Amino acid sequence: MYKKATCNYWKEKTLRLFATYPSARYLNPLALEFGKPHPVIKYAACTKEHVKRCATTLQILTGSYMLQTNRSNFNQHSTKPTCLICRSGPENRIHLIACCPATEHIRCRFRMKLKEILCDHFPNQEHLELLLFDPPTFTALVLDCTSPIITHSIPIPVTSFSDIITCCQQLIHCISAERLTILQRIAPTIQKKRKTRPRKPRKPCGPIHA
Ligand SMILES: [Zn+2]
Repeated sequence: MYKKATCNYWKEKTLRLFATYPSARYLNPLALEFGKPHPVIKYAACTKEHVKRCATTLQILTGSYMLQTNRSNFNQHSTKPTCLICRSGPENRIHLIACCPATEHIRCRFRMKLKEILCDHFPNQEHLELLLFDPPTFTALVLDCTSPIITHSIPIPVTSFSDIITCCQQLIHCISAERLTILQRIAPTIQKKRKTRPRKPRKPCGPIHA
């Protein structure tokens, strides 16, 4: 009885807080059951490799994955939010998952897989096009296909959650890995630009006591 009351209290409080956190926009709040894993974990995390992929998805889903827009907000806009790889727009979650041209080859490959999973359930071509090619809808699908953002307008059968979540977490893992590889490759160019700024002289260190 106490356990149920405690769970209900925290569930209600979390649902109220959800509305005030834009970073939690893509996370399905209705699936929060205290003591039970969220569908994003429940349907995917079964091997060591899956857990790694799941961790990246959860970071992006909760807004803790460091993108240029986060960095810009964190540094009070002294850093530009523009994607350092393609420079075609601000690097937010939609850009990372659905738009950045540098990772389009990965997206194409996984869109084919997702199409195979989804096409049996969506004879309506419009729904399929929306899920796979509309950037905000595709981002919501990839991050949490159980979210009301998706299921409110497009009914995805529960039986396909596992296949979709596994495929989407592979996609996120590949995009994240490719992004890091490119950023490491172009890092010297970015650092060179930063080095051109004049540095403040360092204060001399005091005596070192043994
Ligand atoms: Zn980009």
